[in-house]
Amino acid sequence: MTYDLHTHSTASDGAYTPAELVRLAHAALVTHLALTDHDCTDGLAEAQAEASHCGLTLIPAVEISTTWHGKSVHIVGLNIDPGCPELQQGLARLQTQRMARAEAMGRNLAKDGIEGSFEAARSLAGLGMITRTHFAQYLASLGLAASVRQVFERYLVQGKPGYVHTQWAEMEEAVDWIKCAGGVAVLAHPQRYKLTSSWLGRLLIEFKAVGGEALEVVAGSASLGDIQSSAAAARRHGLLASAGSDFHSPANCWLKLGRLPELPVDLTPVWSLWNE
Ligand code: AMP
Ligand code: MN
Ligand code: MN
Ligand code: MN
Repeated sequence: MTYDLHTHSTASDGAYTPAELVRLAHAALVTHLALTDHDCTDGLAEAQAEASHCGLTLIPAVEISTTWHGKSVHIVGLNIDPGCPELQQGLARLQTQRMARAEAMGRNLAKDGIEGSFEAARSLAGLGMITRTHFAQYLASLGLAASVRQVFERYLVQGKPGYVHTQWAEMEEAVDWIKCAGGVAVLAHPQRYKLTSSWLGRLLIEFKAVGGEALEVVAGSASLGDIQSSAAAARRHGLLASAGSDFHSPANCWLKLGRLPELPVDLTPVWSLWNE
């Protein structure tokens, strides 16, 4: 069995439609795939239909944006019921915030001499969530930097002209929505928040106190050292372990879809919850 419990489709900032993503995962020999689009579950029905067709197990999921001590922290909800009203009401609020932020980003970039970025990003996002990735794609197409990653560094991160601070959900709210929807809350890609070990400890204690159950130990962009320190954190805090590539597209690819390092054997995988 091969699990990949963190991926994106065109319902947010992934390059492939949900059906295309499921076919790619199946071809990569993934047996259990979670589609975790940012703040929306719109891709799940299409993904489920294709998964049934391929014989792959789709885990309905979402990646929720939260703000913790001024930082964006992502909470993945696995095995959720997307029909849950509490979850959808919460996501609707984040979707409204995403649109308002995108308009503000467009205004700020225009002040910096870059016109039309909101309209371009909205068109690249199509019916999906509008994200910084779509702005980055547009700015890269203008030749403003050599790569999408460089565009982020120059324009879209804190302190740069296109950055707009947003107070996303509280961590406790996100975990509540996930639990209301029958899911399990996973703290995503811990190494990406650039926290000292004592701040990461505080984050994990708070996450667990509000009902969080798992840590993404094997995460897209995690080095072997990151995996070891996340594994140690999972042990110390008594958290289950998850694994996900955070696949978006071949160009913005932390890890190849389904090609994940193994979880350390002494950790309890989050999927043990579903296999009992
Ligand atoms: P948003 O949720 O709209 O703020 O956008 C966040 C998304 O931008 C993340 O999920 C990543 O897909 C992407 N992202 C963030 N930082 C970078 C980076 N340095 N390089 C490439 N993509 C990034
Ligand atoms: Mn993303
Ligand atoms: Mn994330
Ligand atoms: Mn992600």
